[in-house]
Amino acid sequence: MGNPSMRAMVFDGSEPLLHLRQIPRPRPGPGQVQLRVSACAVCRTDLHVIDRELPDPKLPLVPGHEIVGVVERLGDGVTRFRSGDRIGVPWLGWTCGQCRYCRRGQENLCPAARFNGYTLDGGYAEYAVADERYCFPIAADYGDAAAAPLLCAGLIGYRAYRMAGPDVQRLGLYGFGAAAHILTQLAVYQGKKIFAFARPGDIESQQFALRLGAVWAGDCDAAPPQPLDAAIIFAPVGDLVPKALTQIAPGGSVVCAGIHMSDIPSFPYRLLWEERIVRSVANLTREDGEAFLAVAAQVPVCTEVQIFALAQANEALDCLRKGRLQGAAVLTMA
Ligand SMILES: [Zn+2]
Ligand SMILES: [Zn+2]
Repeated sequence: MGNPSMRAMVFDGSEPLLHLRQIPRPRPGPGQVQLRVSACAVCRTDLHVIDRELPDPKLPLVPGHEIVGVVERLGDGVTRFRSGDRIGVPWLGWTCGQCRYCRRGQENLCPAARFNGYTLDGGYAEYAVADERYCFPIAADYGDAAAAPLLCAGLIGYRAYRMAGPDVQRLGLYGFGAAAHILTQLAVYQGKKIFAFARPGDIESQQFALRLGAVWAGDCDAAPPQPLDAAIIFAPVGDLVPKALTQIAPGGSVVCAGIHMSDIPSFPYRLLWEERIVRSVANLTREDGEAFLAVAAQVPVCTEVQIFALAQANEALDCLRKGRLQGAAVLTMA
């Protein structure tokens, strides 16, 4: 029957656009599963990749790292999954397992790590392969499209939330997109007070945040009614760092959750004084993924998704770029 092919949206590096192509289906290597992709969510990191803001992507590349699909073929030595299992594939695709970071529970910082949809082909396609050790089972309660945003927006938000500290009561979220809409539900469930900051004039996002249980919503330039214990910045906007620092109480953290951000302007030292902390969060460990997916199913976190066909990936990315989405954009392959 020859070499089976598939439809994929491919980035060739020459312009910030994807092209619909017919390419060979990837074959599972040792330890890998091949999955028939059902849904793949669209992440801001995909924009950073096609805008060439991240160095050295695989080229040509199939982007996408929030993949939900059904295992179809098994590579040699696969033991965790069987044909027919529904699984999720996140950004972290492979680590060395031997370096100092891998050995001390920081595999997300492994210098040899490979990433789905960036240095490995991802899920903007009908089929994908993934190392079984970095995949997650998906709870039966979630539909394919509803589960997809959990795999990055959910996971990164959760890691950032952990980094904000366990004693945080009043948490600010800057940029109310896919990650914030998931994290708000989880944090509210855990008794936290959420303060949502949106682009100036973006009343829709503010109302969306309030509907999900935020106690306050406003422009990113506005001051909340009380100082915050911590803030997480999801928008890729460096200007927000001093703005968030201005709003947090002594000892609080500002966590930058994105993989790329515009330059942070200089700011007076007094904004950092009194043991305030500015830190970044780099993608995920498998432990974050397991912990998050368990608690998400408990809450249960409901994702708001806007569905696009695979061939409409450029439109989905454009909506994300222009802030025209409520919740997460998801490509479906049906
Ligand atoms: Zn390593
Ligand atoms: Zn992502």
